Amino acid sequence: MATVGWIGLGNMGGPMAANMVKAGHVVRGFDLNSEAVSAAAEAGIRPVTSIAEAVDGADVLFTMLPKGEHARAVYFGDHGVLAHASTSTLLVDSSTIDMESARALHDAAAVAGFRFVDAPVSGGMSGAQAGTLTFMIGGEASTVTDASAYIEPMSGNIIATGAATTGQAAKICNNLMLFINLAGAAEGAVLADRLGLDKQVFWDIASVSSGDSWALRTWYPVAGVVPTAASNNDFAPTFTTELANKDINLAIAAAVAVDIPLEIGEHVQQLFQRLIDSGNAAKDCSMIVKLVDGSLETTA
Ligand code: NAD
Repeated sequence: MATVGWIGLGNMGGPMAANMVKAGHVVRGFDLNSEAVSAAAEAGIRPVTSIAEAVDGADVLFTMLPKGEHARAVYFGDHGVLAHASTSTLLVDSSTIDMESARALHDAAAVAGFRFVDAPVSGGMSGAQAGTLTFMIGGEASTVTDASAYIEPMSGNIIATGAATTGQAAKICNNLMLFINLAGAAEGAVLADRLGLDKQVFWDIASVSSGDSWALRTWYPVAGVVPTAASNNDFAPTFTTELANKDINLAIAAAVAVDIPLEIGEHVQQLFQRLIDSGNAAKDCSMIVKLVDGSLETTA
């Protein structure tokens, strides 16, 4: 049994931390959002009110925060992780963040004498709840091995990606493909409907055919087909449009840096931007389907 510090108890961090409790660990959780803290407490996480308390005596600290700016805010500064944790605490950032922030966290942690890995995840909220996430971990090989042992109760796959920041690189590329697949599933689903196909029959075909994708199987954007999909729940977020837009912009920025075109990725980013501009940043990103079926008027 280990003592686990946890910062960021949202859609992903909450259920991930709950799986650490189920594995027998003591988990001390901190979040700025009191609703997230209350939900976590119901799952057995012990609420704390500061970063300093979360890291106190922790064998390992996980951070699961929205963006690079949040990760920097939590790690750096007088009230941050590096100022308060013991260097014996293994630091694991599972947020999806930009390459520069990931590099800054690695460098600052190393200078301060900490072991640190970037360990973003794939698998969505359903994977977080089921403990079947794929973790992609970048950092020193021995630290990756140590982190993997703690990560086991939350994961279906743990893959060492190589040196510092390569976990984030893998995640950014994966999510570029995810959101392009989501846009494809939305177009296919609406076209199938307009061509007179039953939605379940079409899904049964596509999910065992060459149109298959994780987005189709997990986030199908038409209600009444895939139970885990936000389309069944008026697009209450499992993955917000704001975070999806963040991730696809991370890919676009990374591609600019290495001078390759992402024409399809850029187009999907514009679709997310239209959802955001119409006031739907906090809704699930699979709401992109409404731009196809015409039920959401926006300016193209
Ligand atoms: P979320 O917005 O639901 O949760 C983030 C939590 O961090 C919130 O509860 C927020 O209050 C908290 N937070 C922000 N700043 C904080 C601070 N300074 N101190 C303490 N808490 C703070 O987001 P999420 O969906 O859980 O995603 C978290 C990360 O995981 C993101 O980087 C996202 O891109 C990535 N991710 C999400 C999914 C998904 O399906 N939702 C899948 C894979 C990866």
